[in-house]
Amino acid sequence: MPELPEVETIITRLKQGTSSHPPLEGHVVESVQVTWARSVSKPDPVSLQKVLIGQQVLDVRRRGKFLHFPLSQGHFIAHLRMSGDMRMEPRLDSTGKALPLQAYDRVVLNFESPWRLAFSNIRKFGRVWYVTDPLEVLGDLGPEPLSETFSADQLFLMLQRHNRQIKPLLMDQHFIAGLGNIYTDESLFRAKIHPLRRSNTLSESEAKRLHAAIRETLQDGIRKNGASLDWIYRGGDFQNYFQVYQRTGENCPNCSATIQKTVVGQRGTHYCPTCQPAPEMSNKG
Ligand SMILES: [Zn+2]
Repeated sequence: MPELPEVETIITRLKQGTSSHPPLEGHVVESVQVTWARSVSKPDPVSLQKVLIGQQVLDVRRRGKFLHFPLSQGHFIAHLRMSGDMRMEPRLDSTGKALPLQAYDRVVLNFESPWRLAFSNIRKFGRVWYVTDPLEVLGDLGPEPLSETFSADQLFLMLQRHNRQIKPLLMDQHFIAGLGNIYTDESLFRAKIHPLRRSNTLSESEAKRLHAAIRETLQDGIRKNGASLDWIYRGGDFQNYFQVYQRTGENCPNCSATIQKTVVGQRGTHYCPTCQPAPEMSNKG
């Protein structure tokens, strides 16, 4: 599933433009195609097609794993869920004829310019919204882990307020926004914290370590343009730098122990049994 670094990679390309397309900002919607009605979470597909026409894209933002496009009126928001992409590409060929969509394009915004924005979603779980208040979709999200205002002290207090296993808690988007299975496993390994630890048993120094580990892991992921795994390839190669995720049976990069895999909160979870001591063995220091 695309997590914060993968969504950030998509957002950065849309915001800055690439060698193959201009920045998204400023383009005005001429028409909207919906090829999979259930992709539209709000309003209904017909209303979405009407309300977006004539609207200009004013900005390109990320919030957690959401793609957020403020418009001249209201907000277009998308979530890729299991897989997918948001592509900006030409909509016309050299003779002015419309170029065909790709097989998994579910919602497409055709602009007055020769460009279009395609929401591609193989597994159909992805959703788009049009809302006047973005908080209607984004309001329940926890803090942005890379935000300057998100401190280690804040994370410690947040952890203290919950008595939950640390891994599912970190993946809970209401607790903190943007982490999924990959970056949670990698962050916990880097912080030397076992995925089954109870959040309120973490010491202040462990919380500090976890805070640094989350930010470093996400920043490393962004620098590598995310990981290309079970979702549409975007050229990211963070998968080559995983230390524990999907490295079951390999040697831990820090010690000679073998990376283990277990299931936590129904998710495959990778860890080093030596570097990340089990809850009953780890002291609170
Ligand atoms: Zn180890």
